[in-house]
Amino acid sequence: MKQKIKEKPYKTATKFDVCTHLQPIVKVLEDNGNAADRLTGIICDKGDGNILLVENEIDFKLIENHFELPDFIVMNEQKSRIVCSKCWCSLEKKVTGRKFNTSQKIFY
Ligand SMILES: [Zn+2]
Repeated sequence: MKQKIKEKPYKTATKFDVCTHLQPIVKVLEDNGNAADRLTGIICDKGDGNILLVENEIDFKLIENHFELPDFIVMNEQKSRIVCSKCWCSLEKKVTGRKFNTSQKIFY
């Protein structure tokens, strides 16, 4: 059976972690060989919201097969990004040259 992502209760992103809607997704990705960039942590981008970067290609099939996703979680394969539109929070694959609208240090 697929794992459900509960809408409530939830917590939005912190400096170190994505919102609780996306946390189980990060865990499954990490259990399957991807890695979140915990060194950079959450990037607070003025345009794109709170972003957690992952090192490797996001396995969308894996996520699809594992979770029953609510409407507010949007998978954008083209941009290698998973967005929680409720919390304005997302997971994104690291891409060289990607510019963030933030004054934070990004470690790559
Ligand atoms: Zn959320």
